[in-house]
Amino acid sequence: MLDYDLHCHSTVSDGLLTPADLVARAAGRGVKFLALTDHDDIAGLAEAAEAAARLGIGFINGVEVSVSWGSHTLHIVGLRIDPAYPPLVEGLHAVRNGRGARAQLMAESLAKVGIGGALEGAYRYAGNPSIIGRTHFARFLVESGYSKDVRSVFNNYLVKGKPGYVSHQWATLPDTVSWIRGSGGIAVLAHPGRYTSGRKHMGSTTLRELLREFTDLGGQGIEVVSGAHTPEQYAEFARYAEEYGLFASCGSDFHGPGESYRDLGGLPDFPLGCRPVWQLWENK
Ligand code: AMP
Ligand code: MN
Ligand code: MN
Ligand code: MN
Repeated sequence: MLDYDLHCHSTVSDGLLTPADLVARAAGRGVKFLALTDHDDIAGLAEAAEAAARLGIGFINGVEVSVSWGSHTLHIVGLRIDPAYPPLVEGLHAVRNGRGARAQLMAESLAKVGIGGALEGAYRYAGNPSIIGRTHFARFLVESGYSKDVRSVFNNYLVKGKPGYVSHQWATLPDTVSWIRGSGGIAVLAHPGRYTSGRKHMGSTTLRELLREFTDLGGQGIEVVSGAHTPEQYAEFARYAEEYGLFASCGSDFHGPGESYRDLGGLPDFPLGCRPVWQLWENK
């Protein structure tokens, strides 16, 4: 079992627990090193770091940046970032700025299929209104009885081709990697098994193109063990890590009790041969 959980969310983005509560839960579940990786925002890091210090676990400053790459939306996790680095702070601010207008369009498109009040409804679930996103709409739709749970609501309303989906321009991949690396951090491709085009997974040709570009830009890691991956995918992405010389990362992608694929911590070991991403900062 791994002592590390390097991907999770608090109320600063679309998680259900405050940064301090999230850290306490992680510590209680045996996590020794935790990274908080809220979407497009770093406002929870100070509170989380303080809680981690109090509880005696290691804390890593993180973020999960939303990126548009061709027709795909990708997530890039930054680990050991400097939250005061101005290009990162300004870049994330710009990414967040687009979310309000997007939410408005999502609500309008849901209204067209007869679902009213979605904008106000979603904002009620957004602890941090500047990160309003699909998860908050999902919670509203479940609350209103349109779906039985957050998982099925996505498939019926919030993915490409469905009424509540609005395409959006996020950060570029080169900008994202440069904000992370420029701040002294490590750029990691999050949950590569999650990227779909329509109903199909991103094919291996496209994934190879992405990994080539990502490594050329200075990307150094890939999530091998993710709460969003199957054990078969651990092996698959371990092979890609090896092929592209990437360090392996691991994270639950926990959002809240009862809402996630996995709870915090307890992640299984990497397949043999993986170089853990923490080799980049330990024993230095
Ligand atoms: P956004 O950044 O607003 O597009 O929201 C993306 C977030 O929605 C992800 O980080 C997940 O928390 C959640 N999400 C996306 N797809 C799904 C899905 N199929 N099931 C559950 N949650 C999802
Ligand atoms: Mn999320
Ligand atoms: Mn993600
Ligand atoms: Mn995530």
